[in-house]
Order: sequence, then C-alpha cells, then structure tokens
Amino acid sequence: MTREVMERATEEAMLLREEESIWLCVMCNSCTERCQLGVDPAFVITLLRQAAAAMGNCPRHLVDEAKLFQASGFSFPSTGMTKKLRKELGLPELCVSHKAISEIQSIVKRTSMGRVDIE
Ligand code: SF4
Repeated sequence: MTREVMERATEEAMLLREEESIWLCVMCNSCTERCQLGVDPAFVITLLRQAAAAMGNCPRHLVDEAKLFQASGFSFPSTGMTKKLRKELGLPELCVSHKAISEIQSIVKRTSMGRVDIE
C-alpha cells in the first residue's frame, strides 16, 4: 500500500478530496524505519492527510475523536470498564481540569487541527 500511495502522490495521480487509502495507515513508521534511502513515507502520508482534511476528506470516526478531544481532553471515552480496571489497579479516576481543556482548545485553534472543519 505504501509504495502505491507514494507513487500516485508523486505522479499527482491522487484526488485528495476523495482519496481513502491515506487513512488506512496506522502511523507505525515501519516504512520509514526500513527505507534504506532515508525516505519518510509516514511523514508524506501525514502531509497528504493534512491536505485532504483541509479539503473536507477526513473519516467520520477521526472527526468524532477530534471533537471528543476538544471537549474532554480524551480521544476515546472513559467507559465503565476503564473505570473498573483503573479502580482494580489502584489508579485514580481519569480527570482533565477545565484549565487543561481550555489549553487544549487554544492549541487546537492555533494548529492545523483548528483549520479542519469538524462541525
Ligand atoms: S507508517 Fe506503517 S501503516 Fe503507515 S504506510 Fe508506513 S508501514 Fe504502512
């Protein structure tokens, strides 16, 4: 998949407004670590995603995660199972202060994440 994405991106044969393959990457960085020529495909995919997202091409689940992150400081909801396991492990309840959430929202506004329409 990586080679095909890189080839199509460099040949400008990719319609970022519709491209789905760039969202299949899990950002494991294996391709970047293995490349003997020093190419950084994971970074290229990151740039392609930024451009695609700015055009409105962003999977719904990522938009939902971004909204939750802005609102709560978490990308995933804290479930009953999470709370139970944390309690069993003697860990404190997860809690993000209002100040931290305010800082997150400020960072989002100042970064590329804030330029992606997630409403
Ligand atoms: S970062 Fe991992 S998942 Fe993404 S293209 Fe490279 S090897 Fe594939």
